[in-house]
Amino acid sequence: RITYVNGRYVPSREAVVSVEDRGNQFADAVYEACQIKDGAIIDLRRHLDRLDRSLAELRIATPMSRAAMTHVLREVARRNKVENGYVYWQISRGAAPRDHAFPAGVRPTFTATAKSLDVAAAALRYEKGVPIITLPDNRWERVDIKTVGLLPNALAKQAAREAGAFEAVFVDAEGYVTEGSSANVWLVDGEGRLVTRPADRGILRGITRSVLMEVAAAEDVAVVERRFTVTEMKTAREVFLTSAGAILCPVVSIDGETVANGVPGSIAARLRRRFHDIAERTPI
Ligand code: PLP
Repeated sequence: RITYVNGRYVPSREAVVSVEDRGNQFADAVYEACQIKDGAIIDLRRHLDRLDRSLAELRIATPMSRAAMTHVLREVARRNKVENGYVYWQISRGAAPRDHAFPAGVRPTFTATAKSLDVAAAALRYEKGVPIITLPDNRWERVDIKTVGLLPNALAKQAAREAGAFEAVFVDAEGYVTEGSSANVWLVDGEGRLVTRPADRGILRGITRSVLMEVAAAEDVAVVERRFTVTEMKTAREVFLTSAGAILCPVVSIDGETVANGVPGSIAARLRRRFHDIAERTPI
C-alpha cells in the first residue's frame, strides 16, 4: 500500500511521522474519510467543508489548497487501486518538542491513505441488518469537531465486538441517544417520519446524515430533528445508522431486543437505493 506523507507518496511501511508529532502526543489532529464507490470519491466537497471547520475550530493551519488536497486524495486512491473502499486523511498541528500549549512556527503534518473494502461483507450487513448495543456517552463535549481523539469510540466499538454486535450507540446522561461510535443514528416513527438528533454539540454533523436529508426530501419522507430515548429507539418501526463508510446500515436488534420484526425496514431500503443518485462523485 501507498501512503502520502507531507508531500511524498511512499510504501506504507516506510511512511513515518515524528514521535513528537502532536497528533501522536495530544490527539491534536483532525481527519476525514470519504467512501470510494465504483472509482469515484463520494461527497468530497462536503467533507472538505467539514475539514475546514474542524481546522478552524482548533486553529490548525490549512496545509494546502482545496485543489491540491483533492489531487492528493485522488492520487492516493489511484495508486492504491481502490475502486470500492475509502480514502482517509489526517492533519495534525505538526511536530514540536512536547509542550501542551501551541508551538510557534510549526507546519501541519498531512497524511493520507486509501483502502479497499469487503464489498460482499458490507452488502450482507445491509441485507440482514446488524445488532447494536447502547453505552453511556463518556466523550468530551466537542464531538462536533472531527478529531482523532477517538479512544472512547474505540473502547465502545470493542465492547460491541465482544457483545457480538456491530456498533455501540452512545446515550447521554438524560437517557437520549447521541450517536454511534462511528455513525449517526436514525429511527422511523409510527407516522413513517425519520427522526434524528439535531447536530448540535452532542454529535458529529455527519455528511451522510446531511445527504440523507436531501434523499428523504426527494422521496417525500419527512425528517424531524429531535432527541430520542433508548426506549423510543427500541420500539421504533425502523432504526438505522449512517456513515461515509457504510452509507446506510439497518439495525435489527438493540441490547439483544429485536427491532420491529427483526428484518431491515422498507423506508431504509428506499432511501439507500436513492442515495447514490443524489451524492456527488469525484472520479479518481
Ligand atoms: N459520528 C461519528 C462519531 C463518526 O465517527 C462518524 C463517521 O465516521 C459519523 C458520525 C458519520 O459521519 P459521516 O457520515 O460524515 O461519515
